[in-house]
Amino acid sequence: MTRGVVPRQPSKSGRHAGVRNVPAVARPPAPQKNGRPRAQRPATAPKVALKITKASRDYDPIAPKRVQEILKRLDERYPKATCALHHKNAWELLVATILSAQCTDARVNMVTPVIFKKYPEPADFAALKPEQLEPDIRSTGFFRNKSKSIVGAAKAVVNEFGGRVPDDIDRLLTIPGVARKTANVVLGTWFHRAVGVVVDTHVRRISRRLELTKNDDPEKIEQDLMRVLPQEKWIDFSHQIIHHGRQLCIARVPKCAECPLENLCHASDKTWSTVEIHKSAAP
Ligand code: SF4
Repeated sequence: MTRGVVPRQPSKSGRHAGVRNVPAVARPPAPQKNGRPRAQRPATAPKVALKITKASRDYDPIAPKRVQEILKRLDERYPKATCALHHKNAWELLVATILSAQCTDARVNMVTPVIFKKYPEPADFAALKPEQLEPDIRSTGFFRNKSKSIVGAAKAVVNEFGGRVPDDIDRLLTIPGVARKTANVVLGTWFHRAVGVVVDTHVRRISRRLELTKNDDPEKIEQDLMRVLPQEKWIDFSHQIIHHGRQLCIARVPKCAECPLENLCHASDKTWSTVEIHKSAAP
């Protein structure tokens, strides 16, 4: 070695001069024990520090043009979206909606044919003690509360409304176990009356990802959506978003690369993005 030339020592911090900002090389995941390649989890969208441009300063997530474009693409992707709960009348839909809390529609659709065969009319449910209904609906979860709600709702429908489910929100909301979500499902799906917007877990999550609301409380989200969406879309929007939430915009790892709303969406947890990410667009 030439005299006076001392070899450069690695830095104690592990960062060496001249090797700043070198992108990490993506390593393929290790194969599974059976030798098959392991499925690769989609990477979350890169968190890049983006310049604040005039366009991003002027961005208005609830601008009518943007909202119309979202609605148009939802119509194209989910043209026939409707309620997945099987029912033959307003009473059956009301019961199915009460049962669907914290339960899949598929499970509810297995339970409802059995109970409606056993108890065809609201009066048959009204004659029960909640404990008698519990075994039939046990598999939907929270069965004690649901039994109480259904039997209480049946009594109200029979005693207050002559055995028919009312078609206005004020009277619906007096029925035990019926909150705004259930009332909106029955009014929108059975009576085709757009009185509000159904806000379930999918509508809550996706409305926040799409920046149509910043609220977390379902009633406030509903008020925001009623302001932003044209009333004639209130019913379809919920059905379409619920389908979207099941098929693509799923809670844990949304399938953004397949999503028709991708370039309109700035959600903070996107898995793939062609547009800038907004930290506040969080589910
Ligand atoms: S781009 Fe991703 S996060 Fe945004 S709506 Fe589509 S699936 Fe959901």
